[in-house]
Amino acid sequence: MAAGFPEFRLGNVLATSFTGTLSERRGNAVERIPTPERLVDWLVVNGLAVASCSIAQLELAWELRESIHAAATAAAIQGALPAPAVQVINDCSIRGRAAAVLTPEGNRRWRLGSATCVEDALGVIAADAISIIAGERDGRLALCASPTCQAAFFDTSRSRTRKWCDMNTCGNRQKKARFHANQRKDAKPAQ
Ligand SMILES: [Zn+2]
Repeated sequence: MAAGFPEFRLGNVLATSFTGTLSERRGNAVERIPTPERLVDWLVVNGLAVASCSIAQLELAWELRESIHAAATAAAIQGALPAPAVQVINDCSIRGRAAAVLTPEGNRRWRLGSATCVEDALGVIAADAISIIAGERDGRLALCASPTCQAAFFDTSRSRTRKWCDMNTCGNRQKKARFHANQRKDAKPAQ
């Protein structure tokens, strides 16, 4: 891990892990892929290793990320999908030339068209976003209950009642806030 950069938040849904690389969108936003090198690091961690990334490719990644965020947010509140966002997602999906391959152990791996093709990796992410926004996968798109976050996340819990995009960050913070609020209540003299 490169020093000095915010850590990645890793989820088990590729598209929303990707949108999570910009967190605290309604508060003090944290950019977790501020440089091409950090995008390369993120892609490696998510099974989409590329050898290099240019500034233009990083900008394309940000554009895709914000488009997925906009479309997933609209889908989560059953709103109309923003047409420009849909266009970007589709363009990225069409341009990518990645192939799914099966390993001897029975796992799926992505094979990118070439090692320099960030576009291929973005194509995989765009296709993942399409599958959750289209409702093809078992789960529910929802918005994080943290007021400074409100990130769209994909709830795969059995009860479909998950409230936070990430239990370790947003969930914990809310729990702590509630704990302190309760303590203050308990400290009040009995009526
Ligand atoms: Zn959140």
